[in-house]
Amino acid sequence: MEAVEAGVIFLQDYVNSMCEGKPAWKIVVTTAGTTLLLLWLKEFLFQGESLFVRGKKFFFRLVRRIPQVRAKIEEEINKVSESMEKEMNENIKHAGYLTSLPSKGWSVEEIIKETEEYCGYGTFDWESGCASGTVYNGNKILTELMTKVYGMSAWTNPLHADVFPGVRKMEAEVVRMCCTIYNGGPLSCGTMTSGGTESIIMAIKAYREYAKNVKGIKNPEIVVPITAHAAFDKGCQLLHIRIKHIPIDPVSMKVDVNAMEKAITKNTIMLAGSAPQFPHGVVDPIEEIADLGVKYDIPVHVDACLGGFLIPFMKEAGYLLPLFDFCVEGVTSISADTHKYGYAPKGSSVIMYSDEKWRHYQYFVCPDWPGGIYATSTISGSRAGGIIAACWASLMYHGHLGYVEYTKKIIDTTKLIEKGCRTIPGIKVMGKPDVSIVALGSDDFNIYMLSDGMSKKGWNLNALQFPPCIHIAVTVLHTQPGVVEKFVNDVTEIATEIMKNPPKELGGSAAIYGMAQSVPDRSLVGEMAWCYLDAVYSTRASEKEKNQM
Ligand SMILES: *Cc1c(COP(=O)(O)O)cnc(C)c1O
Repeated sequence: MEAVEAGVIFLQDYVNSMCEGKPAWKIVVTTAGTTLLLLWLKEFLFQGESLFVRGKKFFFRLVRRIPQVRAKIEEEINKVSESMEKEMNENIKHAGYLTSLPSKGWSVEEIIKETEEYCGYGTFDWESGCASGTVYNGNKILTELMTKVYGMSAWTNPLHADVFPGVRKMEAEVVRMCCTIYNGGPLSCGTMTSGGTESIIMAIKAYREYAKNVKGIKNPEIVVPITAHAAFDKGCQLLHIRIKHIPIDPVSMKVDVNAMEKAITKNTIMLAGSAPQFPHGVVDPIEEIADLGVKYDIPVHVDACLGGFLIPFMKEAGYLLPLFDFCVEGVTSISADTHKYGYAPKGSSVIMYSDEKWRHYQYFVCPDWPGGIYATSTISGSRAGGIIAACWASLMYHGHLGYVEYTKKIIDTTKLIEKGCRTIPGIKVMGKPDVSIVALGSDDFNIYMLSDGMSKKGWNLNALQFPPCIHIAVTVLHTQPGVVEKFVNDVTEIATEIMKNPPKELGGSAAIYGMAQSVPDRSLVGEMAWCYLDAVYSTRASEKEKNQM
């Protein structure tokens, strides 16, 4: 005690001696000024983006003010824009666009005929399994069943649980069945959402609210593998949260858990791992991430959006995975997409929590709205009851054994593709594919050339970056006879050709992807992506039509 008192007295004397002989106004102004400066400095230094990233952006903004640079960039962007629009027009066979409502409604026959026309556009034969992911099942009986169930519930809206008690029951059952699949305890719970992205955003939102209300965290951060789905970045942008991306091991492609631990601060509100991650299809070390969660008292989300209806059935299908579900202490939430390997129509996913306390923070409640006390569980207000019903129908149609059977077929197929590709000269398989994705890279040539070659043979694969590779996500459609053989043969043929006669110039996606990864100004790549989205919504007819009109 005495030492503390002595310390205080010393400090008082020191401050007094510092202020001696100075006018009071000067002392006040200096103190206030210094405080403001320190506060500003703190704001400036500690933002969502690091100082380095902001510095880089500032530099590129300056460069782009130079008129010649700006003109050149605009010229390039216009070119990209035009070529994208052209491609969109080619894809619809230059049919032109409707741009206003028909003054008199069409007859049912006309609409059906036109719909047939619209659905007939496109040259990719996805039904024979040429597309990576995209369509997870093409079963005609299932299609008919879901269409019928959708029709029966087309007008329902779970926002009005009193008017549509049946659809409420279906949603509650879908969530419960998923919690059971993932070994949730008696307090486990969740909600359905419109897709994996929304499921992830809801988990981030729940943990942000929890951190704010219970722990008083004002500047929340989440820590995720660099390979975590971009939906985490989207959620953080929407919810004003800082995201820290953790590097992966360059051989296993799994997140570096030590680096993850180092990135944890008192502001960390959530850790995440993927089971499996999208780029290379490997499962992050969920148990180790969950251990960190327990050690630092931070919620842990497992993103099983992709593998949601594969990984829980793999053991019974004969493939062992390390633990990833609610059995693991520390795992507090899991997202699983029913609209991927659950074979439900697009627009459905499930977010699950180990405990009801988390779900409460996901809810949105507006008690004072003149429109009534308003409470919703997810981002949407009104929701499509028909999609919930169709999802429920898909789960009931397959049952536990149906999913085990499909899982076995899909994992068997993936292993065959992996095995085949490992023997192809010039091709390397990235990491060890744990579930349904095989990612291919090359140390000998630009891997995007392989992707272009595969496109010419009718395949539609995913291009990945950092590091450059491409992947195929295996679905039920790839388990059809002959698909694996064709895939491996085509990759072999193209890779051999590239190795024998390396093309001098890169074309197609090889040029675009190669260029996009080497552009240091990422905002430029962003603007190119805007061009794509603009083209998606474009209803400008091509020159050819304009001449005909
Ligand atoms: C597909 C996917 C998501 C996002 O799901 P959407 O349904 O496309 O919104 C999230 N994580 C992983 C690993 C995915 O594969």
